[in-house]
Amino acid sequence: MSETKRIYLSSPTMSGSEMKFIEEAFETNWVAPLGKNVDEFEKEMAEYVGASHAVALSSGTAALHLAVKLANVRRGDVVLCSDLTFSATVNPISYEGGVQVFIDSEPETWNMDPEALREAFRKYPRAKAVVVVNLYGTPARLEVIKEICKEHGVPLIEDAAESLGATHMGRQTGAIGDYGVFSFNGNKIITTSGGGMLVTDDAEAAKTARFWATQSREPFPWYEHKELGYNYRMSNVVAGIGRGQLLHLDEHKAKKKLIYERYKSALSDLPLSMNPHLPESEPNFWLSCVLLDEGCSVKPMDIINMLGKNNIEARPIWKPMHMQPLYRENDFISAGGDLSGEIFKRGVCLPSDIKMTEEEAAKVISLIRSNF
Ligand SMILES: *Cc1c(COP(=O)(O)O)cnc(C)c1O
Repeated sequence: MSETKRIYLSSPTMSGSEMKFIEEAFETNWVAPLGKNVDEFEKEMAEYVGASHAVALSSGTAALHLAVKLANVRRGDVVLCSDLTFSATVNPISYEGGVQVFIDSEPETWNMDPEALREAFRKYPRAKAVVVVNLYGTPARLEVIKEICKEHGVPLIEDAAESLGATHMGRQTGAIGDYGVFSFNGNKIITTSGGGMLVTDDAEAAKTARFWATQSREPFPWYEHKELGYNYRMSNVVAGIGRGQLLHLDEHKAKKKLIYERYKSALSDLPLSMNPHLPESEPNFWLSCVLLDEGCSVKPMDIINMLGKNNIEARPIWKPMHMQPLYRENDFISAGGDLSGEIFKRGVCLPSDIKMTEEEAAKVISLIRSNF
């Protein structure tokens, strides 16, 4: 019997271009700390997304933490954040003693509902910052959310960990908020094995982030510290992987889009819909997801288990933060109902690996269809 190769949700796709940059780092013995790859990767990322500054870090979570610090979030401060997301979007608020208030999703992007955000500002007029995620590579209604933040004079932190390369009204996600965060974790659209990037147009903020990320070491011959520091910088080897990967981001995006469109047309007659996006947005289609119609007899776990038995990875939608035991004390604000909870109950993330062949995709589709 032939072994069937596992089909993944999203696994690393290496091109070979990474090795050139890694070898260079080895040859110059610039393995660590920092070095040319870090400097160049920062420049290349800033240029790609259209931000003035980029700071290469050890993870997306580290970038989110520094963004929360830059937003001046202190003990007891309320931060309004996306509810339907991965916990890493919101955990760094707790690192600083802030309190998350979760904002429901809206149906057209699955991301933060601007109406619920307005409602939240009425209830929490002293909220210190907003953290919005572009889930699964789909931009939120960023221009509306940014405008609301401006009205209230608070910074917008954009968690673009999943949306590198996606655009909203012609602008790259991550570069729309005051602080943007990317992740190069193994499952993201490009990967460095692990890493993150903070982008901003604020030169002073970028400088401060670099300072905090290198142990807040003051410019003295000895180690002098006035502030708490972190070991959050990206290594020069890791940045080399990133430079090689970035050359292939557009190619990855195009392949992800084909996967999405293939599912969309092959499943169009079933009682479900694909993860939606606005006409003014171009997602990076990191993950293709489906939402089963209300009252549909097929449940997400039916599909996930059946694919699992065939060595194919699928997953439920991120479990919303307001449903997490960790955050049971935190407030949840909705413009009516609990859409993020609904999406969790009826949604499935489908295999979206760009190495998936036509035959593999056909097999996944036929297995999904056999549930109905
Ligand atoms: C992956 C991810 C993060 C965290 O990035 P790491 O690099 O794994 O720390 C944050 N937010 C979202 C939405 C993510 O998907």
